[in-house]
Amino acid sequence: MNTQCPFCSVQCKMQITEERGAKDTRSSYTVAPLMNLASEGRLCIKGMNAYQHVLTSERIVNPLMKKDGRFVPISWEDAYDIITNKFQELQRSYGKHSIGVYGGGSLTNETAYLLGKFARVALQTKYIDYNGRFCMSAAASAGVKVFGLDRGLTNQLADIEKAECIILAGTNIAECQPTLMPYFTRAKEKGAVLIAIDPRETGTTRISNFHLRVKPGMDATLANGMLKVLLEEGLVDRTFVEQRTSGFEELRAHLDAIRMEDIVELTGVPAQQIRDAALAYGKASTGMVFTARGVEQQTDGHMAVRNFLNLVLLTGKIGKPGCGYGAVTGQGNGQGGREHGQKADQLPGYRLIENPEDRTYVAGVWGIEPDELPGKGVSAYEMMEKVVEQEIRALLVMGSNPIVSNPNANVVEDGLKKLELLVVVDFLMSETAQLADLVLPASAYLENTGTLTNLEGRVLLREAGRPAPGESRHDWRILCDLADRLGRGTYFQFTEAEEIFDELRLASRGGAADYYGITYERLRREEGVYWPCPELDHPGAKRLFETSFPLPGGKALLTAVENHLPKEQVDAQFPLYLTTGRVVTHYLTGVQTRRSYTLLAQDIESFMEIHPKTARAYNIEDATLVKLETRRGVIYVRSRLREEIREDTVFVPMHWGDTQNVNKITHDALDPTCRMPGFKVCAVNVSPLVSE
Ligand code: SF4
Repeated sequence: MNTQCPFCSVQCKMQITEERGAKDTRSSYTVAPLMNLASEGRLCIKGMNAYQHVLTSERIVNPLMKKDGRFVPISWEDAYDIITNKFQELQRSYGKHSIGVYGGGSLTNETAYLLGKFARVALQTKYIDYNGRFCMSAAASAGVKVFGLDRGLTNQLADIEKAECIILAGTNIAECQPTLMPYFTRAKEKGAVLIAIDPRETGTTRISNFHLRVKPGMDATLANGMLKVLLEEGLVDRTFVEQRTSGFEELRAHLDAIRMEDIVELTGVPAQQIRDAALAYGKASTGMVFTARGVEQQTDGHMAVRNFLNLVLLTGKIGKPGCGYGAVTGQGNGQGGREHGQKADQLPGYRLIENPEDRTYVAGVWGIEPDELPGKGVSAYEMMEKVVEQEIRALLVMGSNPIVSNPNANVVEDGLKKLELLVVVDFLMSETAQLADLVLPASAYLENTGTLTNLEGRVLLREAGRPAPGESRHDWRILCDLADRLGRGTYFQFTEAEEIFDELRLASRGGAADYYGITYERLRREEGVYWPCPELDHPGAKRLFETSFPLPGGKALLTAVENHLPKEQVDAQFPLYLTTGRVVTHYLTGVQTRRSYTLLAQDIESFMEIHPKTARAYNIEDATLVKLETRRGVIYVRSRLREEIREDTVFVPMHWGDTQNVNKITHDALDPTCRMPGFKVCAVNVSPLVSE
């Protein structure tokens, strides 16, 4: 079967071939990469093994209900009855908004769209949001504010090789999107200067000409230093700034008032390195800037991204070959998942739930009155707070694992235990599913037809290659069935994914993320189509902002950004910074990759990366169990002594649950604009476990 890897936003194509074993022996599988324009025929270790978790015997194949603390199989009919009766009872007692819906960035566009419609039309609750809030919200909100539009890359991956200088800020492409690395190595071979910004040395920083080893949380300040150098050295594209931006004078006055000495002190990056990096980018005639979670998962993530966009705009490096910005999306459908309505403030096609015209348009497509649509809800973590406060009394979770992915996860877990009904739709038993009252078995990616939008904004069709096992059902089918039981089935008359996509096309028509011109037939014929694509004969927009920005006067917005400090500072009790991230072998909270025997064998448990000098100071030896403690709680992982990390910082990956779940100890302060939690920095103490 031909398919696409589900484990990141590149969506590499591959062919999986089953060789059936003789009687009583197991089948074997071979995986071969297929050519496509993004991955150029490459697969990384995750893609090569992305079939194992689908074929595992741990698949959930029946609806399950918890009885006396144990899950027992029940029929679909009984499961639907229990869920819809309880939803209706709670809504009668506590109002429509007593039910919450929580989605995921790995769902197809069709399911993400239908989940938003299910919340607003079938349940009429305002409480819907999804785990993509934790990976894209800072870059998305910054893109909308600065450019007037959020699309992961403003241009194609193919432009990378045309760039003379590339800034990789808080992005570890070598581990998170490995098949993209040749774009950067080829650019370097052609003479491009690569500038990496990261507190740790990684596979990405190692190929770079400059590695600015910034203190966690100080990326926006570092960008201020680079902007200051650009101004002082006259490396500003005056014509572009005058004709295509607003806000320059305020930015200049702000930068004039900032002292480079303070920037050096706050970031921990020497002035000469800041200067060299700024000169390399400013003097290059073409260049690209990429940000990812290192910059974005901050309590000032929105403004931090805006400061990197200031670099792009001040030098006029956008809207032409070899120039642009990219938010390197992590989740498989991190781009499409944020476009079609599973966010609290959003309707399909990036329409806004608080905009009367948008409400009227989408209500018209859905066949309801605009005032039937609920208003704006709250962000993912704030939904968990509503659960804790028991304003939300029942929760439907689809394709997500919130008790591992939310910050301050102990509190989230306590909240979920208070729910009167927790329903999880998944195909594997996640940590959240283990807490559920009912688990509904969904199909996995190999069994699901649907579209996904890669990090470039290119829409791709992934077709099912095998039937779903046992009684598993497509997630969109489950939503239609539940809507029917809730008396709203007339709005959910879909018999296949393509019909949902056709309605999505209509609902997005005229919106910022316009999919109207994209059809399954086109996607089968062409190798993906970029949005916006407003007409059937439109080629799709490969490069954005060539002549203007969708903002007043067609101008992008330059902004003065303060030297903001993280919400939690180190002190005598918690003297080190804790930062989090990914490893190459695992995806999100590890529910899927920990079920792949090959991937699990590579990284079987979590770890704490610590500098050898720091480890000595804390009596920590290599490969020994350590306790990490913050104001939120404790976790226990094994140490890895590495010179690659700053001496004041430790790193723990995010892919494990229970006592290794780093989010039990991360800080839950949120960015004031996009409500992104500050996963990337908090204060921690570490100690060897043996001393207890
Ligand atoms: Fe490609 Fe990403 Fe899958 Fe690796 S994880 S094979 S880079 S889609």
